[in-house]
Amino acid sequence: MTMRVDPEFRGKVVGELGAERLLRCVQCSTCTVSCPISEFVDWNPRLVVEKCLLGLRDVLDEEGLWLCTSCQNCYERCPQDVRFSEIVLALRRLAAEEAKAGRLKLESTKPAFDECFLEMVAKYGRQYEAGLLRTFAKRSGLGFKLFLSYKGIGMRLFKKGKVALRPDKIKRVKEVREVFKRFSGSPSSSVETGGEHK
Ligand code: SF4
Ligand code: SF4
Repeated sequence: MTMRVDPEFRGKVVGELGAERLLRCVQCSTCTVSCPISEFVDWNPRLVVEKCLLGLRDVLDEEGLWLCTSCQNCYERCPQDVRFSEIVLALRRLAAEEAKAGRLKLESTKPAFDECFLEMVAKYGRQYEAGLLRTFAKRSGLGFKLFLSYKGIGMRLFKKGKVALRPDKIKRVKEVREVFKRFSGSPSSSVETGGEHK
């Protein structure tokens, strides 16, 4: 595997909201041994921090970045208060930016899901599951396969009235849209808040 060293990458990560404490890391591995997913997937929080410190941009390709459950074990147990789970969020934002600029191809569909999720909230002030599923199926490239895989649970939820076929916009949706506008530097900035979902 080719390692791409970018001397500016460390500074870029540290400049991200939540990743300011990166330089405090003493590489003790407490985060790695506390992480419930590192036992099952190729994900090593200590190594992720090391890669950031060394300027290895390949860290943005890590699959575990999108599998982290935000359980906060790493955050709570770190003796240096590095707050690794916040660094994960910062790296996700950077990875999404790189992907948007065409410099990185993301294998995970999680960023597309997050974007669609936020898009629904920005448009209606609450979640609109049918719209979310439709938009995500299109944007992730999963298409009809997605509908098939959720067919069983989808029907059960629909029968119980848990899946609305039409969006139900809240009254003060403008205030929700204001929140999105104020965070226009985040990945959700791509959310178009003005139009209706088609
Ligand atoms: S627990 Fe904290 S100090 Fe130790 S390796 Fe993880 S981030 Fe670094
Ligand atoms: S927050 Fe993420 S990285 Fe940290 S311990 Fe939990 S799953 Fe692992």
